[in-house]
Amino acid sequence: MENMDREHTVVVATGNAHKLSEIQSILGVAPSMAGMRFVALGELGDYPDPEENGKTFLDNAIIKARAALDETGLLMAVADDSGLVVDALDGAPGIYSARWAGEHGNDEANNDKLLEQMAEVPRERRTARFHSSVALVTRDEDGEEIVAGSGDCEGSIAYDRRGTNGFGYDPLFELADKPGTRMAELTPGEKNAISHRRRALDDLVSKLG
Ligand code: IMP
Repeated sequence: MENMDREHTVVVATGNAHKLSEIQSILGVAPSMAGMRFVALGELGDYPDPEENGKTFLDNAIIKARAALDETGLLMAVADDSGLVVDALDGAPGIYSARWAGEHGNDEANNDKLLEQMAEVPRERRTARFHSSVALVTRDEDGEEIVAGSGDCEGSIAYDRRGTNGFGYDPLFELADKPGTRMAELTPGEKNAISHRRRALDDLVSKLG
């Protein structure tokens, strides 16, 4: 990272271009982030994903941010970890959301599994939320500082899929604030305004100087 201004670079531990721009546009306005450049980890090298073996969303966000610092030698990293929390399933799939049906990121299989597990659950017990935890990890000669943010988006699990936008469990997620509307029916702009990630980033910004 010799050519990089280490004091003014924040590595974003994601391979997702959409997340990079969302994080950049929200975190970039915090006064303490003035003059910072946000760079996706994938732009800096082909680094292996760390094992996400934490017990909570925040643990896993911190694991990803620390790995990005270890790999790049940079001083500031931000990472998020998110997923779906279903009350009738005691919080599952939770931190296992991406790989719930076995293969990492198989949205179709994950949604099939959710419909199957919820088949007998009555409407009033189908409450759920998307959760996101975000961690900003900073290192200097004194050690490490972690600032965390978290956000939720409330809703319930429907009995069938609807909508073609978004990803993951969006077609099955009915919004509490817009009854009858699935997350997958929102435009990207509408989703970004109310999403768990948006709320977690806003929470993080509110804790930064
Ligand atoms: P990640 O931490 O953002 O990579 O998300 C982990 C998994 O949680 C994804 O693979 C999805 O299954 C689920 N998930 C997270 N955010 C969303 C969302 O906004 N909509 C639908 N599913 C999501």
